[in-house]
Amino acid sequence: MSEQQFDVLIVGAGISGIGAAVHLQRDCPGKSFAILEQRADLGGTWDLFQYPGIRSDSDMHTLGFDFEPWTEQKAIADGPSIWRYLHRVAKERNIEQHIRFGQKVMTASWSSETASWTLECSGDDGAHSRYTASYLYLASGYYDYEQGHEPPFEGREAFAGQIVHPQFWPEDLDYSGQKVVVIGSGATAVTLVPSIARKAAHVTMLQRTPTWYAIRPSEDALANGLRKILPDKWAYKLIRTRNVLLQRFIYNRARKRPDQVGEFLHGKVRDALDGEMDKKHFQPPYNPWEQRLCLVPDADMFAALNRGDAEIVTDQIDRFDESGIQLQSGQHLDADLIVTATGLKLAVAGKIAFQVDGAPVAFNEQYYYKGAMFSNIPNLAVVFGYVNASWTLKADLVARYFCRLINTVDARGADFALPYLAPDAKGEAEDAFDFSSGYFQRSMAILPKNGAEQPWKLNQDYLLDRKILLKGALDDGVLQFRTADRAAAPQTRDAALEPAE
Ligand SMILES: Cc1cc2nc3c(=O)[nH]c(=O)nc-3n(C[C@H](O)[C@H](O)[C@H](O)COP(=O)(O)OP(=O)(O)OC[C@H]3O[C@@H](n4cnc5c(N)ncnc54)[C@H](O)[C@@H]3O)c2cc1C
Repeated sequence: MSEQQFDVLIVGAGISGIGAAVHLQRDCPGKSFAILEQRADLGGTWDLFQYPGIRSDSDMHTLGFDFEPWTEQKAIADGPSIWRYLHRVAKERNIEQHIRFGQKVMTASWSSETASWTLECSGDDGAHSRYTASYLYLASGYYDYEQGHEPPFEGREAFAGQIVHPQFWPEDLDYSGQKVVVIGSGATAVTLVPSIARKAAHVTMLQRTPTWYAIRPSEDALANGLRKILPDKWAYKLIRTRNVLLQRFIYNRARKRPDQVGEFLHGKVRDALDGEMDKKHFQPPYNPWEQRLCLVPDADMFAALNRGDAEIVTDQIDRFDESGIQLQSGQHLDADLIVTATGLKLAVAGKIAFQVDGAPVAFNEQYYYKGAMFSNIPNLAVVFGYVNASWTLKADLVARYFCRLINTVDARGADFALPYLAPDAKGEAEDAFDFSSGYFQRSMAILPKNGAEQPWKLNQDYLLDRKILLKGALDDGVLQFRTADRAAAPQTRDAALEPAE
């Protein structure tokens, strides 16, 4: 088995991994690193998802990196332009050469004796490789790349047409002239429906529950105007700041005055629809921002509804049959193609089997530390983006914090940093997400714990995290700086990590 050694290993070459590499190169210039990526290309989400119309559902001024202005006209950007942005960053900043493609990380084992991580990877060609490093950075995203969420539908096998999950959209899928039913009402369904509506004979969006829609122009006139008179970097910074503040304001407002925000959102939907707004399709059973708002750029989905190319049906599935879907109301939806836009299957830590000093790690027993590390796991950072704001805001913060941590470990002559939580100090855990979204509810059992208090609490507040991760003292009485000089081989992980005398 081949073996390579680095100072830092990053798992994943999506937004988080590419961003981490750029920060690391800049803030820890002496450190060697590699990015291990299971796929054949970089981009993560923006390389995997290929369904028609794939686009961001938050603005690129906050989904872009803090170090690289987004300069395209559209602020709500299509997948290929995000993919190009990531490739450009990786190329211009010499990150590409550090990526080891086709390397799926299977196991990661920490040894306190050597103060290092050992990773075993399975290659595309079946060959296994070993990598070691002092630090490990998990930029492996939050969902399973191999499986989407597919609820079992009775009679599925009886359907004579094709069934497609958007995560695995066939390149050559021809739906022109076909009757398409898209099951779901989340961001994917709302993106797909208007994109396929013109070519398909008819598209039905079949939803069990309605969603809150936020209608916005895909282009940000102010951003595009500012770029004409200011350097790109300045314009980007201004718009990014405005968007962070605006997003925060709307989120907080929705929490405090849900009726007011709901009425505002409904007002926009009424304006976008030619006919009456039927509340059956547009009144969710929860308040705005209790689940992620569903963005409709340029009201494109409503245009498809107005043209009659698409319709919304709110009902429950009884069963699939040969010609389509039988609904519980008695209605039947004829279909040639069924798209199950039923969501993602969450995955923790890239589905890697972790060990610390010989003991297996169960992530659902670990607490987040400052939303950037885990309790009792040394020299490991993780990116888990916000549910109420763009992912990259958090990814940039975690990367900067991690660089601070590496430099502090070095400055202290230590070998590793450990967010130590004593077994008897583990407090009550709270739901990490005050969110009712299906994929969080389905996955609560596998997700790491969220403490009630800092630093064990996972915040959904970018400005607070900025303070904590960029300005807060690393030495907070919880993070311990240790050297690798202890005789190891302890029986339990907690025993291994108990503070040295
Ligand atoms: C369709 C879609 C649209 C989205 N739109 C938005 C949006 O508009 N705004 C927003 O904030 N968020 C959005 N998200 C969330 C989105 O995933 C993040 O914005 C962001 O792309 C995540 O980047 P990441 O690098 O952390 O993870 P990913 O993009 O998931 O990349 C993770 C990478 O890690 C690799 N990997 C995983 N496990 C392993 C392993 N064991 N070994 C080796 N490699 C591994 C994967 O192959 C992948 O390349 C969207 C998600 C989806 C699915």
